[in-house]
Amino acid sequence: MIRRLALLALWAACFTATVSGAGSAPGETDATGRLADTYVEAVAKLNEEHRRKPRGSEEQLALRLPNKAAAALSKLLDLEETEGLESSLGRCSEAALDLARVEDFNALQARRAGLVGQDAAPLDVALARPRFLLIGQNGLSVEYLERFAVVLDAILDAYDEVFGFEEWSKIPGKKLRLRVHLEERITSPPHFAPQFPFHSEVDFPVVDPDQLRSPTNDGKFLFYGLCHELGHVIAMWGSPSHDTDHHAWAHYTGVTITEHLAESRAFEKLGRNLRDARYGRTLQKERETHRATEPSLVDRDGVLATLITLHDAVGPKAIGAALNHLEREGALERVNAVRYHSFRKLEEGLVATLRSRKARRAVADLFE
Ligand SMILES: [Zn+2]
Repeated sequence: MIRRLALLALWAACFTATVSGAGSAPGETDATGRLADTYVEAVAKLNEEHRRKPRGSEEQLALRLPNKAAAALSKLLDLEETEGLESSLGRCSEAALDLARVEDFNALQARRAGLVGQDAAPLDVALARPRFLLIGQNGLSVEYLERFAVVLDAILDAYDEVFGFEEWSKIPGKKLRLRVHLEERITSPPHFAPQFPFHSEVDFPVVDPDQLRSPTNDGKFLFYGLCHELGHVIAMWGSPSHDTDHHAWAHYTGVTITEHLAESRAFEKLGRNLRDARYGRTLQKERETHRATEPSLVDRDGVLATLITLHDAVGPKAIGAALNHLEREGALERVNAVRYHSFRKLEEGLVATLRSRKARRAVADLFE
């Protein structure tokens, strides 16, 4: 699921608030506010420069934090407790995550833990991997995130094997971000949150504090949900107010990846707690369900039938190659840097990248 309309109104506001970054929050004293501003402004400046002209990885970008900003952070961490310190530490924590500076983040969380009255609320934890940054909330441990990272890496590997998408993040080089939060019950499903200025972020609720298990006892398909959300991260369709794929694309990539992993021997052990494919979250099940559905672009079933037909005619690698081609050519609509595709462009991308005339004809017939 993706929350489109509610987030739309927030986009402009969030964007401005985050990019401008600095500015003491209420309650901060001059001293804590100034130190926090120095760090937060430096992070925002680096990210802004990178967005305008991306080069290198987020790790490389993080190494370019000016000494002055690192020194300001050290001073802030050493300050005696004052009224505004908590708020300043909080602002710097978010900024540290914006550059995946996990060491800074941990030091800030440790300092927050030492503040009077902070023992009740569990602190956030973070874990960086080359392709993503995990943030654990509401009492999740770093060990939990390490186990979650193994699952997410397996899913991204599967996307590589099946589709071969070249660029995940909406800003090249920046890590994908997942905010994983422990809940008693899942009342709101996972969703792609497109509003962040520098990161593609997925909001992901879990109920088991030990490790990811799916489906949950009350039937939530979290593993499929994770594969599905990454489909949104790769490609949105239409415009923010009108999804021309009728929400079929992320379902298609979600069941395709769930099925691929269920059939992979390397996933055998890991998959014992991730049993979504056994409950019908597979491409094969959708193929059977939609055997008689006419491919079209008019509704969800029609689009799903179109994607399955395309998958079977040219293969998922060709679909990935077409999307990569469109990305390289800069031929996509972007809203807040998020990629928006159209089926007309997908057809153009396929025609430009497919070598076999038979495959090109199959595409032309499908989209005519
Ligand atoms: Zn969705």
